[in-house]
Amino acid sequence: METPVNKIPTILIVGAGIGGLSFYQSARKNLDQKFNVKIFDRETSPQDRLTEAIPSPTPKEHHSTMVIDHAGKLLFSAPQQNFNIYEMEPLKHDFAGIVAYRHILRNVLLNGVDVQWGKKCIGYEESENGVWALFDDGTREFGDLLIGADGINSPIRKQMVPNLKILDPGVTSVDIDIVIPKYMADKLMKIYKNAIIQWSLGKNGDAFLSSMRYIPINEPDEPRYRLNFAYHYPTILDIKDENNKLVDDDNPESVVKHTILRIKQLRPPGELRDLIIEILSLALYSNSGYSKKYPFRTYNPIRRRQLRDIDPLSVPDWKDGRTVLLGDAAHAMNPILGLGWCLLKNI
Ligand SMILES: Cc1cc2nc3c(=O)[nH]c(=O)nc-3n(C[C@H](O)[C@H](O)[C@H](O)COP(=O)(O)OP(=O)(O)OC[C@H]3O[C@@H](n4cnc5c(N)ncnc54)[C@H](O)[C@@H]3O)c2cc1C
Repeated sequence: METPVNKIPTILIVGAGIGGLSFYQSARKNLDQKFNVKIFDRETSPQDRLTEAIPSPTPKEHHSTMVIDHAGKLLFSAPQQNFNIYEMEPLKHDFAGIVAYRHILRNVLLNGVDVQWGKKCIGYEESENGVWALFDDGTREFGDLLIGADGINSPIRKQMVPNLKILDPGVTSVDIDIVIPKYMADKLMKIYKNAIIQWSLGKNGDAFLSSMRYIPINEPDEPRYRLNFAYHYPTILDIKDENNKLVDDDNPESVVKHTILRIKQLRPPGELRDLIIEILSLALYSNSGYSKKYPFRTYNPIRRRQLRDIDPLSVPDWKDGRTVLLGDAAHAMNPILGLGWCLLKNI
């Protein structure tokens, strides 16, 4: 492959997510005139993922996390004040949180950025003089440095570090989005004192995690709310369970039934357990079409997955090169930790 030599060095960024855009803005602010910066994304436009966007907060929402035990006893509650994305500077409180809506943050970061949309990167080739980013439309782009900010499934990472070892922490997670009526939302909010991020730790290594947006999906009978629910339990239970063979992970109904059985097995009866089982029985097994009516996604396929992590010791030593990973491409964070974007803030 012929390799041109750039007069002004060029930085290629693959991925116009929070990481790639933050890097772009930072490079423009601090390195302007010294570098050309080009940014590419596989999406066809910034609106591609709009269905995941959620409206701005409603006054009733309390952006806090609350952790309770199986019986509802308080274990931890963050004394969190609400700040929005424009109020990062005055934050002084240890427990203060920044409420940044991803679609708003992304819009802010997109300001003045000429993203080349519809460019899906499939790999790269390094040469002596530079690096080529290769795209699935058959085109390629030459630069001096390539930033792989292409998210959790980064093809750049897969090429750069092909032999990562995966750690299995022995935890299975079932993730379900459910649209619930107001009376159930109220019951849940009462148990969790209005905190929108809700944990309940069981005594058998299991946990309920839910988060609820207090955004009514107005139906003629009663307002409805969207709840993200996850149930975590030890994988060993599935391994030892003969009936596990009968669970079909491609069949949402089968996964929900299995989850309810696990909950009944691991949680003693009680207000929260009974409410969660009632809520799970409302889970939809296919897309109801709500997403078309509302500006946020109301259905994602129900999933049972074993949590996985990358063994950091399987990553080879640092080396010189022209390709760098950034953000989730380098250190995918479990969404539950709520840390991925926070780690990027230091760019
Ligand atoms: C449900 C959920 C909740 C979360 N909550 C929090 C939270 O509360 N706090 C927090 O700090 N973090 C949170 N995170 C994590 C945070 O969103 C991520 O860490 C952050 O978005 C990572 O930014 P990124 O730019 O590295 O990747 P992304 O934001 O995923 O961006 C990657 C970009 O690369 C593009 N791309 C992918 N493949 C290619 C390709 N082959 N070619 C070209 N472009 C490509 C994608 O279209 C995308 O635009 C959450 C994540 C999830 C899923």
